[in-house]
Amino acid sequence: MPSRFPLPPGSMIGVIGGGQLGRMLALAAGRLGFDVTVLEPEPDAPAARVAARTLEAAYDDAEALRSLADTCDVVTFEFENVPAAVVERLQMLGALAAPGQRPLAVAQDRVNEKEFFQAQGIATADFAAISSPADIAAALPRLGARALLKTRREGYDGKGQTWVEGESDAEAAFARIGGKPAILEARVPFVRELSVIAARGRSGEIACYPLGENHHQAGVLRTTLAPARASDATREQAVAIAQATLEALDYVGVMGVELFELDGGALLVNEFAPRVHNSGHWTQDGCEVDQFEQHVRAVAGWPLGRTDALAQVEMTNLLGYEADDWRALAADPSARLWLYGKREPREGRKMGHVNRLRPLP
Ligand code: AMP
Repeated sequence: MPSRFPLPPGSMIGVIGGGQLGRMLALAAGRLGFDVTVLEPEPDAPAARVAARTLEAAYDDAEALRSLADTCDVVTFEFENVPAAVVERLQMLGALAAPGQRPLAVAQDRVNEKEFFQAQGIATADFAAISSPADIAAALPRLGARALLKTRREGYDGKGQTWVEGESDAEAAFARIGGKPAILEARVPFVRELSVIAARGRSGEIACYPLGENHHQAGVLRTTLAPARASDATREQAVAIAQATLEALDYVGVMGVELFELDGGALLVNEFAPRVHNSGHWTQDGCEVDQFEQHVRAVAGWPLGRTDALAQVEMTNLLGYEADDWRALAADPSARLWLYGKREPREGRKMGHVNRLRPLP
């Protein structure tokens, strides 16, 4: 059978998830002549409004999955909480999913994820799997008196996490995260949070963007500065981590890897996202081929694009009502404005972002 790849322009790419990442994937796919079908249960979703076609249905809706499999040449996703069983089902229906089910399954469970990294020889925070307050009390002597408790599944933007303030707090801390299966992590004394956005194509080639330096506020990404100032050794470590992760998962597409930098430059992995990543939005104005086009290229079996930075970029998320400043931002020649078309500016909701460019140092 002749290979379907590279997919020719005019092919249909399925995207599970209709948020801003899906919207920017659809825009990038359109640039290369592809069409996108979005699967998303919410009506009027950001991605649906720029896609050729939308299936407004639950992610596990049997009919919608059949339609996706029948009409799409490849199916990808824009968020990691798509049930791994959905990807399995799509594959059974004859669809090609990229990235596949394994990266999704590993990333969805924080304990599996940490074990995966350790099996690759990649350093992470010390941790323990937790299913009761007694597990917390038992692990604290090894992990340190103050440790971070996170739900194993479905946490994001700092949700589903709480600091455990010593053994006497074990019971209450477990209750604070809803009494769910969890991971307890030793506190990492990091000096900076970095991330690397990396891609692997269908022929196994890998391309990494320069590092981003990330600043969070109340658990949500606020700004990314890229390329981050980092020693060659730090950059090489990040690339080696991304490369080993992509290869071990036989990954196709773009991945975001979140890193902690320790005093002295050593890196620990926090987590990876099997998708395009908020800390990669700077590439939209700082690189010839941004992370969204790169992901489309990878899943479509096209050659990967260049990843070197053409400018220094500060990316700032517009949260909640900050996007109401669009008039001033539109009039600011130093601001490259991206808006997601969300109707409701709820507190802390990601409504858009701004890239500000400076010449490279
Ligand atoms: P996460 O949901 O795992 O990305 O964690 C959200 C944020 O919590 C990270 O960006 C860090 O700022 C902080 N954090 C997560 N894990 C640790 C840790 N083990 N030690 C210290 N800070 C952490």
